Amino acid sequence: MKIKSVEIFLLDGGRPGWRPIVCRVNTDEGLYGCGEASVGFDAGALGSVGMLRELAPLCIGMDPMANEAVWDHLFHDSFWGQGGGVIAFSAISAIDTALWDIRGKALNAPIWQLLGGKIRSELRAYASQLQFGWGTDGMVFDRGFRPEDLAEHAARAVSEGFDAVKINFITYDESGKRLGFLRGPIPLRTRHMIEARLRAVRDAIGPDVDLLLENHGRTDAVSAVELARIAAPYGVMFMEEPSTPFLLQTCEQIHRESNIPIAGGERVFGRWNYLNLFQHAALQIAQPDIGTCGGITEAKKICDMAHAFDVGIQTHVCGSPISIAASLQLECVLPNFVIHEHHVTNRSEANRSLGLYDYQPVNGRCAVPDLPGLGQDLSEKAIRTALEHIVVDTAL
Ligand code: MG
Repeated sequence: MKIKSVEIFLLDGGRPGWRPIVCRVNTDEGLYGCGEASVGFDAGALGSVGMLRELAPLCIGMDPMANEAVWDHLFHDSFWGQGGGVIAFSAISAIDTALWDIRGKALNAPIWQLLGGKIRSELRAYASQLQFGWGTDGMVFDRGFRPEDLAEHAARAVSEGFDAVKINFITYDESGKRLGFLRGPIPLRTRHMIEARLRAVRDAIGPDVDLLLENHGRTDAVSAVELARIAAPYGVMFMEEPSTPFLLQTCEQIHRESNIPIAGGERVFGRWNYLNLFQHAALQIAQPDIGTCGGITEAKKICDMAHAFDVGIQTHVCGSPISIAASLQLECVLPNFVIHEHHVTNRSEANRSLGLYDYQPVNGRCAVPDLPGLGQDLSEKAIRTALEHIVVDTAL
């Protein structure tokens, strides 16, 4: 079997800032597989589409079952692959995951079976990014900045069966405008605003629901430690991206001074960068995104290495149904799995309709697909409404 062509889709996720990128690798035997480059939100999507276009000719003619050979070729022979940035790595990720999808279909097995077998058949999930709402019609019109709004969103998630919720308490100011980067020391007025939100949410979810703190890298060492101390009495499971992601010594300091487990990794790519984080004890929960860290091949290596450092795993999932399926396939085989991310965007009709199947959690738990490969495919609508569709069928 040989790789015959690579199709690149820039999908319409229903709003300008949501354009998932999926590649479909086609073989000369008619089998194909899908994989996602998870930079479909905010800035970067077109860069990733361009890189996929550049990398596709390198793998045309190669054996699609030879993941390691293809990965190594894209990494070493594209020159920029070894630089480790998100654009090159997201493109490698999409191709690699598509090859796993092909492998599963060729062997008539779900990917989890090829990765060592399921440890669990359902995954505990948390309701993610409730500051953007918890509705089903997209997230831009449902911002949570008043304490009572955040409390309402969190209570809705808990009423659906979720026993863990994640919120960024510093996305918006009191009037709903973006707060931006919160440099320390945090002004008293802002501290009081944060505390009022935390109190409202804890009151709404009760004493036993886990609360996860998301910072989106918008705090520094001083403000992150202050935020952690404000939040600690309300019970925090972990604090995510409390500083610019690659600041090893800052993450280590924040953990030491806050006593709260630090999560991060969605903006870290490749095993070598993760090794640095683990060696500096900068993370207690690693969050590789399969669509940017290097695909399923690389994510498995990162997760196993994390295990050797007693670091838990929650893959970062913020993409189309293709990304969600990849995450479920991997997380169910990991001994060091902690929890699965269910992003508010996964609830929107625009995103759900991009997949052939709709894997939504039930009672806060996700089932794992048993179909061959990823157990997911692009819907006819996703292909028909794609903003761009590029076909590369010539080897370099
Ligand atoms: Mg995050």
